[in-house]
Formats: sequence, structure tokens, C-alpha cells
Amino acid sequence: DPVMAVHDLRMSYNDKVVLDGVTFDARPGEVLALLGPNGAGKSTTIEILEGFRHRSDGEVSVLGLDPATADETWRARLGIVQQSWRDHGRWGVRQLLTHLGAYYAPFSTPTRPRPMDVDELLATVGLTEHAHQKAGSLSGGQRRRLDVAIGIVGRPDVLFLDEPTTGFDPQARREFHDVVHRLADLEGTTILLTTHDLDEAEKLADRILILAGGRIVANGSAAELSREV
Ligand code: ADP
Ligand code: ADP
Repeated sequence: DPVMAVHDLRMSYNDKVVLDGVTFDARPGEVLALLGPNGAGKSTTIEILEGFRHRSDGEVSVLGLDPATADETWRARLGIVQQSWRDHGRWGVRQLLTHLGAYYAPFSTPTRPRPMDVDELLATVGLTEHAHQKAGSLSGGQRRRLDVAIGIVGRPDVLFLDEPTTGFDPQARREFHDVVHRLADLEGTTILLTTHDLDEAEKLADRILILAGGRIVANGSAAELSREV
């Protein structure tokens, strides 16, 4: 069964049609990039899948449930990294992750221990050396990687990354791409990320979905898409 299935998804704000019949699905462990220019409806799509926005029409299933009606147990299986980061101020990096991780312990299963081990988590996002720093003293790129750590501490089955590298310089971008490659190796995690950068989509994704005019106009691996052009 697909981890996510979106069929003929439609979304309008007042009279403005933003999504005009979006259809795609995701298989377990896939890294999908939703690629499109600013204003294409990428955030709208991802926020509907996360359960933050109510769609106008169409069918959406994530981990077998409709995000509009899903429960806390379902939400605990999602990792969400939103576009703007929160200021965690004087919380230490390790302290924050340990504290948030405790929330997920009751959602553990025999095959999927939750939360992730904090040392493993810090290594995955490249913050081992910053474990004892205050969150508010991290650089922009480090804060974003802390957001990812917060997103994956509960060992999610699905991870959403909304424009994760916006505003990054090339080095922060490279470091972040390494993090996503490590995430893709985490057992069983399916990733949906949004980007307006074709190069980023090619570097990160198993499959690219191009969103334009409110529809998915191309859907395939980077190699498949380049053959079509
Ligand atoms: P993207 O993430 O691809 O940049 P968005 O999903 O953020 O696109 O926005 C798609 C379109 O929907 C834009 O024209 C945006 O202005 C509009 N939009 C987004 N959120 C709202 C909202 N809450 N109310 C009205 N219009 C919105
Ligand atoms: P300044 O605006 O003075 O350059 P900031 O602390 O606002 O410094 O931003 C530093 C870096 O943090 C930015 O380059 C960007 O990468 C990141 N950043 C800042 N604000 C946000 C935000 N709301 N969402 C995502 N990243 C942000």
C-alpha cells in the first residue's frame, strides 16, 4: 500500500484555484520532491497532508488515514519541518531533544522504538558538536538541522520538509543535503520535501513531482524527466 495517496486534490482560497486536481502517491522509503515556483501551491499541498489545512475537494490518505480526521496516534507517526523555524532560545540542544523525545515513548511499538537515541539523532543531523549549546546561539543552517532533529526524534514513518534550505548559503545547503541522504537511509522513513530548486530536487529525490498550474505536470526520476525534455 502507498504511504501517501493523493487523488484529484483541489484547493481554492476564496475564488482563487490553487490546486486543480493533484494526483500522486508515495511508496514506503521513497524520497519525493514536490518542485514548483513560488506560489505554485507546494506549502498548501504539504499542509493538507500534514492535517494543518482543510482541502476543498479530493481524496487524501496518509498512513492509511484521512489527515482531516486522523488522531494523535497518527500524528505521532509524522515528522514535520515547517518553513519557518521556531526560536527555542535558552534550551540546550540535547536538553530540548530529550525533553521532546519523552512525548513519543508511549507510541513505541516492538518493531519501532520511539524516541530515537539522542546521540544517533545528533549524529544524523550533524549537531554532535553542538549538543550543549543553547538553541538560540546556533547559526541559521544549524537551527534548521535542529528543526529536522525535532521532526525525526519520534522516528516518524513520514517526514515532511517544507522548503528546508531556503536562505542557506552553499555550504549550509551541502551540509543539509548530507543530512537528507542520511535520513533516507533511516529504516522505513518516507520523505516528502518541497523546493523551487531543480538542482536540489535532482540531488535529493528518488522521484520528482513538478507542480504547475495547480496540477502535477511531470512525475518521475531525474533521469526519466530529463529524457522527456
Ligand atoms: P508555494 O508553497 O508553492 O509557494 P503556497 O501553497 O504557499 O505556494 O501558495 C499558493 C497560492 O495560494 C499563493 O498564491 C498564495 O498566495 C495563496 N495562499 C496560500 N495560503 C493562503 C491563504 N491562507 N489565504 C489565501 N491565499 C493563500
Ligand atoms: P538576519 O535576518 O539578520 O540575516 P536571521 O537570524 O534572521 O538573521 O537569519 C539568519 C539565517 O537564519 C537566515 O539566513 C536563514 O537561513 C535562517 N532564517 C531566519 N529566519 C528564518 C525563518 N523564519 N525561517 C527559516 N529560516 C530562517
